[in-house]
Amino acid sequence: MAQFYGNEQIQHTLHQMLLRDRAPHGFLFYGETGLGKKTLAKQFLAELLCTGTEKPCGSCKSCKMLADGVHPDVRFVEHSGKRNGFSVDTVREVCVDLASPPNEGNAKCYVFGDCDAMDTRTQNLLLKAVEEPPAYGYFIFTATSPASLLPTVRSRIVSLAVSPVTEQECCAALAERGFSPEDAAEAVAAFHGNIGQCLNFLENMPIREVVGLTKTAINSIINKNEYALLQTVSVLGKERERTFLFLNLFDRCIRDAIVWKHDPCAAGIGCDAAGSKKLAERLSDSAGQAMHCAVDSTYGAMEANVNLPLALAAFCADCMDA
Ligand SMILES: [Zn+2]
Repeated sequence: MAQFYGNEQIQHTLHQMLLRDRAPHGFLFYGETGLGKKTLAKQFLAELLCTGTEKPCGSCKSCKMLADGVHPDVRFVEHSGKRNGFSVDTVREVCVDLASPPNEGNAKCYVFGDCDAMDTRTQNLLLKAVEEPPAYGYFIFTATSPASLLPTVRSRIVSLAVSPVTEQECCAALAERGFSPEDAAEAVAAFHGNIGQCLNFLENMPIREVVGLTKTAINSIINKNEYALLQTVSVLGKERERTFLFLNLFDRCIRDAIVWKHDPCAAGIGCDAAGSKKLAERLSDSAGQAMHCAVDSTYGAMEANVNLPLALAAFCADCMDA
């Protein structure tokens, strides 16, 4: 089973809850994509369901079934209906299923992963089950932000923030998966202590390419070369996913430049430390803010389905005017 790294405080808290038989029946694990929230859910459930002495033992029937993804009392609820949401039918089906007792042990668990797009209606449908689950019922939600869940749902469960690990821990985790120190260092330079995003970077060529485009874009800003910036973003074409990633990475680099102007020792979150440091030497606070706003309005234009190349051309102009 995939290991969950770092976040000792959360791991300790969950372990203590289980040891004392005081585990709440609902959790929200939140934090940015790639931090291992679903892995943490699996680790918690392994300990909850394990029948061995040292929990999770990894060798009892329950641990094995969970690791193989075939535990009959654990359901990672699949997305359905609208994009990345959960359909009314799916939630109704979960509520019906919850009414029948567990097959194996004393617990029946439902993991709703990536709940950022879970709509109000489905959350309300689930509310009663989350409020008053049977003694064996457990719910785990994961999302990037706690605000993804309605306050009524959130008030019934325990919310825990998952953080990135240290860069050393991240390198160690990547080494355990067989990546060379050079590859690990390159990934960590771009995505710091976010193991999932580092893995994504190492395993997906398109992500590497977008990181490269971001660095080129930052360089164009440093050189005040609008033509080069336009050429760089034109590579994104009409691909929304890649454009979202580019804007996110670009925004982080700008954030680093602004922060480093005032505190050169602060921790960076962007993928281009060298570029952001250079930019920090010449970027005014107001120009940095203007570029951040340019990113925001491009997100807005994308939400409104504005023609992507046009939105990106406006983005370039805004950045150059900043
Ligand atoms: Zn076990």
